[in-house]
Amino acid sequence: MRDRTDQHQVTWSTAPAVATPRMMARILATFYVAAGIAGLFAVFGPDAGAQGRWVIFTVALVALACGAVAFRWAGHWPRHVFHWPVASAAALVAFAVTVSPDAATAMAAASIMAFIAVDAFFFFSLRLAWLHMAFGLTAVTAALLTQDDVPASIALALDAVIVALGTVVRGLVIRASSASRDPLTGLANRRGFDDALHELRTAAARTGEPLSAALLDLDHFKQINDTAGHEAGDRVLCRIADVWRRELPGSAVLARHGGDEFALLLPGLAGADALALVRRISAQHPEIGVSCGVAELRPGQGAAELMRRADRALYDAKAAGRGRCELEGGAGSALARDLAGALAAGDVQVHYQPIVDLQDGAVVGVEALARWTHPEHGPLPPEEFVAVAEQSGLVHALGAHVLRTACTELVDVRTPAGQPVTLGVNVSGRELNDPGCALRVQHVLADTGFPVEHLVLEVTEGLLEGESPTAVATLHALRTAGIKVSIDDFGTGYSSLSRLDTLPADVLKLDRSFIATVHSSPRRAQMLQTLVEMCLGLGLDVVAEGVETAEQEAAVRAMGCTFAQGWRYGRPVPLAELLTGLRAGAEAADREPAYRG
Ligand code: C2E
Ligand code: CA
Ligand code: CA
Repeated sequence: MRDRTDQHQVTWSTAPAVATPRMMARILATFYVAAGIAGLFAVFGPDAGAQGRWVIFTVALVALACGAVAFRWAGHWPRHVFHWPVASAAALVAFAVTVSPDAATAMAAASIMAFIAVDAFFFFSLRLAWLHMAFGLTAVTAALLTQDDVPASIALALDAVIVALGTVVRGLVIRASSASRDPLTGLANRRGFDDALHELRTAAARTGEPLSAALLDLDHFKQINDTAGHEAGDRVLCRIADVWRRELPGSAVLARHGGDEFALLLPGLAGADALALVRRISAQHPEIGVSCGVAELRPGQGAAELMRRADRALYDAKAAGRGRCELEGGAGSALARDLAGALAAGDVQVHYQPIVDLQDGAVVGVEALARWTHPEHGPLPPEEFVAVAEQSGLVHALGAHVLRTACTELVDVRTPAGQPVTLGVNVSGRELNDPGCALRVQHVLADTGFPVEHLVLEVTEGLLEGESPTAVATLHALRTAGIKVSIDDFGTGYSSLSRLDTLPADVLKLDRSFIATVHSSPRRAQMLQTLVEMCLGLGLDVVAEGVETAEQEAAVRAMGCTFAQGWRYGRPVPLAELLTGLRAGAEAADREPAYRG
């Protein structure tokens, strides 16, 4: 019985599951364009040239333009924004009816309300769909009645046709949506979950917001089924679904993935927060026991890989004795334990990559990059173990280790020109969010004697968009202490150019994806040129990252970049190799006057 009430609740107060923003955008665009074309036909009807026809012509052009806008952008709009184009369409139709020069044109214009009925019943919850219909039909019927030759009965006949069309569409849409719902619990099924996952992943990639996924498995469900029967098992599943649905935030997507496995998507939650939430909801069923695995989406990662990682965490949780929740790469994961051990044993190395002055090609600084060779998996890419460090809370220890090692090793190192070497060190957002961060950096500088003005902390652009007040305060504190800040990977985030002058930074590092395309795209080159000019105007130094070829070097130099880093000048290497390179550079510099002379 409850199922049916649930189903009713679902259709009344929620939008149909098949109405994804992409589908909605396509339908909206098609209808606007079709209405525009219909309007153009009307212009060439009998009586062409009459006053009203020119107004209709303008309305038709507006509709075509709206169609083009919807086609290009509506797929990225949040759901609630769609109310505006649908309500505006109704207003536009009512207006066209009012200005129609004759009854036949007015009826043709009024029939476009059918499009709005389909939109409303497809896009929105039933409640809101009826609100749209009430507004649209009232406006259009009133407009029809202002026409002398349209009797009220004919206007009402049209209304009846439109309402019938809308309700039939609603029925079909709900039927189609049920293919993505689990009939027992009313939750999304695997198909509905996959649709939501793709949509949320795309949105997360666009906005930079975190997204976490969880798999939850009931530990002792089979026993309930075996001892109390399948009906009792079904009741347990429904009860759990009800409780979780109530506890979860509105944006969460909960699905029954099969048997006794549930899947959950948590947009806006980072791994640690998702883990805390999943722990809380699973603790509500101590009698059944729930094992769960959580993973946070990593930049550039696909949907399938995210779910594989959640599954790996679930496997870890079960292996560790069930009734547990694990975060993939989190403190409890095998990789995090190994990394903690490596940090304690001093097995994480620091390599250095030269940064050159583009004016004379001389090395002026280096970037410190962490390196870790796992005893079983071999050398791991820093992106991978830095993510593990962030999720497990080890990133403070990792950051401190790299900073201290680099400052100690480079304190007496000079560039070929005899200057102290400038040292770039990457800091993660989680480090900056720690209020003690600035003081700790200053302690390391004091302990090692590394010159304050030669340290540059590299912060990724995406981090600054989050505008965490603590992180911004840390950056200001660091700069007040004389430490420089650089915006790393600039161009991969979503900062607007207008923010360049408010960012608490001294240096901007252009991401290597820009440099790689500098030759293939003249427009890209032009844009970079303008960007570099703007930065220089604001007093920021610009480092071009990932310069691999002589052509790329020539291009970034022509643009006015001040510094460059990349394989053309050297790969990241251990200290000894860096020193050999610097010595060779110094010898070349010594010989230089002889060449010139
Ligand atoms: P990043 O800060 O953007 O570092 C530059 C990356 O570009 C390095 O990758 C470097 O090896 C690579 N690279 C340099 N020149 C070239 C080139 O000419 N062509 C190409 N294709 N690549 C080039 P790596 O060492 O794998 O580091 C990856 C990322 O890991 C870094 O990106 C940084 O975000 C992170 N990372 C590394 N060490 C640390 C660390 O100590 N702490 C933190 N928080 N993050 C770190
Ligand atoms: Ca960097
Ligand atoms: Ca970078």
